[in-house]
Amino acid sequence: MTDETQTEPRAAARPRSAEWFARAQQHIPGGVNSPVRAFRAVGGQPVVIRSARAATVEDVDGNSYVDFVCSWGPLILGHAHPEIVTAVCEAAARGTTYGALCTHEVELAELVTSMYPGLEQVRFVSSGTEATMSAIRLARGATGRDIIVKFSGCYHGHADHLLVAAGSGLATFGQPDSAGVPEAFASQTRVLPLDDEQAVEKLFDHEGDKIAAVIIEPIPANNGLLLQRSKFLQVLRRITARHGALLIFDEVISGFRVAPGGAAELYGITPDLATFGKVIGGGLPVGAFGGSAELMGNLAPDGAVYQAGTLSGNPVAMAAGLETLRVLRRDDGWVRLEAMGARLEALLSPVLEAAPVPAQLVRCGSIFWMAFQDGVAPRRADALSSDAPGIYSDLFGALLRRGVYLAPSAYEVGFVSLAHQPDDLELLAGALGEAFDEMTPR
Ligand code: PMP
Repeated sequence: MTDETQTEPRAAARPRSAEWFARAQQHIPGGVNSPVRAFRAVGGQPVVIRSARAATVEDVDGNSYVDFVCSWGPLILGHAHPEIVTAVCEAAARGTTYGALCTHEVELAELVTSMYPGLEQVRFVSSGTEATMSAIRLARGATGRDIIVKFSGCYHGHADHLLVAAGSGLATFGQPDSAGVPEAFASQTRVLPLDDEQAVEKLFDHEGDKIAAVIIEPIPANNGLLLQRSKFLQVLRRITARHGALLIFDEVISGFRVAPGGAAELYGITPDLATFGKVIGGGLPVGAFGGSAELMGNLAPDGAVYQAGTLSGNPVAMAAGLETLRVLRRDDGWVRLEAMGARLEALLSPVLEAAPVPAQLVRCGSIFWMAFQDGVAPRRADALSSDAPGIYSDLFGALLRRGVYLAPSAYEVGFVSLAHQPDDLELLAGALGEAFDEMTPR
């Protein structure tokens, strides 16, 4: 084999993907049901998937890719895991939805409350957005206060009051990040920078008695991977408790992934409320939020905070979540995921160090992200390099051609699942090295 054939891209052209995307654009806005899938940040045509198994996805043209998106996090066991497929089929055969209490939701509630610190009760919903939206309503109802504090760069789904990003600096009146969010809603949200205890203290000194809750991704993974100092999270815990505000950990990504008890276990900090999604549904639409029985008692039917859902606690989705957590526990999942993540880091770090652009790997267990900047890994949104999108879009196309599917955005993280094999990690490292080699000099 010559050098040339060795570097020959594995995945070929995608004419059928292009045809399907053209059809999609006729009747689905932008051709997608979630914006980042449109590949706008990296250019080119989106890949249209027709099937997936273990760590591989296959597109409608028959190209296969090693998948490090894993449906943005839910697929911690990989695609179409046989035990999940069986659990889903068995549940579906007994009826796909009842709109009444079923045994699976009780079992999943028992399991997750036994795993996550301080969680006594949990309510299931159908997405991460619903989970955070409901947790915020509960926090406001329970405290009788309106103001919510979030951090710049943290994403909590697309409920109106959470679609507020930061300006930099101390808390300002939030500006809507999306058209259609009323100013009046956004003005109830304060946005602070991550990694800045003083900013938090200053805000609480000023209006601590009006703050219902502070919501944070304890492992912020929606604007790169902005790993926090544990001291910062401890300060949040202390200040919220002192002022009678609630601390909400949004563990939609980190929950049941970084440890059985999520970031709360990892950092040894128990929030008042936690929100979940992704892994908890084993690849089906599930979200959840929970906390102490006392706090959750504010929800209808016992309490005055209304929250409901036609498909909440859906038996098929509950079965998928339950089976996922059972397999993870049985197979020592978290230990193995950390080992896989460490292996990936060992393979990628030298490639990134030798790259023609500044680059480093940031990782927490099976969550990883390539930061295209030197020095200390960024801990806040305004520390992110603005060169990253340009660098990443070059790399993204080169990796795709070599059969590696990463998230189509420089600021999205990658995931390793239990289905990934050492070969898959080596393929990524090799393809990345080749992609850097063919990069146009900057
Ligand atoms: N919170 C976090 C931390 C998330 O990462 C996401 C989605 N990526 C959400 C909330 C919203 O979840 P969903 O997309 O299921 O509505």
